[in-house]
Amino acid sequence: MIEFEHVSKQYSQDAYALKDVSLSIGAGELIFLAGPSGAGKSTLLKMIAGIEKPTAGQVKVNGQDISKLKSSSLPYLRRKLGLILQDQKLLTDRHVLANVMLPIIVTGASQAEAETRARIALEKVGLPDKAYSMPLALSGGEQQRVAIARAIVNRPQIILADEPTAFLDRDNANKVLGALKAFQSAGVTCIISSHDEQFLDQASRVIYLSQGKVVETWKSSLAA
Ligand code: ADP
Ligand code: ADP
Repeated sequence: MIEFEHVSKQYSQDAYALKDVSLSIGAGELIFLAGPSGAGKSTLLKMIAGIEKPTAGQVKVNGQDISKLKSSSLPYLRRKLGLILQDQKLLTDRHVLANVMLPIIVTGASQAEAETRARIALEKVGLPDKAYSMPLALSGGEQQRVAIARAIVNRPQIILADEPTAFLDRDNANKVLGALKAFQSAGVTCIISSHDEQFLDQASRVIYLSQGKVVETWKSSLAA
């Protein structure tokens, strides 16, 4: 489903974010992308979404070479992806329901259909009562679950989450983890970058990055 073939990302003479990474991720996997800060985890996730382009090698999603996609085709790729990235904050000037409806509205769906689907997404992340709350009135964990609802509202095949439990306490982190795990059980491929060791037990595979290279990849003994 996702293939990296000798992928590098070089920012300058000897600054690599990724260096000759090859890997293959199958449908329905829950990948735990581990490694220290600066290892290249965010870069790897952004490449799957076509947000960053490799300077060498190929990234393929469903057999399609992402760097060959025209920029006009990228929105169609991104609709198949649920993105939970660090720099995509909720819009603070509108309530939760409006935030979650937005990705559906841009596909041209009616308000009524968007609202129905957004409410279903909020139920899946355990926040059906927060539809009319403003994002800043929610706890960090609740905001993160709204971001997950927004990411999955178009029923993506793949969820990419960058440090989804950063800054959350154990209880909230578990709820976020539970929500992601439920999508994987429903057949969605999840790739989650994290320092959070809780993900280890839940992952079908761990990919460990260091200084832009895959240094280890192993199957969890408790693989799903
Ligand atoms: P991680 O998510 O594992 O913390 P990143 O993918 O964010 O790692 O970063 C990998 C490396 O690439 C880091 O050394 C970072 O400083 C560098 N890097 C990331 N983005 C840029 C950029 N736009 N320009 C230059 N260097 C960058
Ligand atoms: P259904 O046929 O009832 O839509 P599925 O077998 O497709 O159910 O999925 C099982 C559950 O997981 C349902 O609640 C469905 O809404 C949910 N689900 C499946 N795929 C996704 C996805 N990509 N994003 C969000 N929810 C999903």
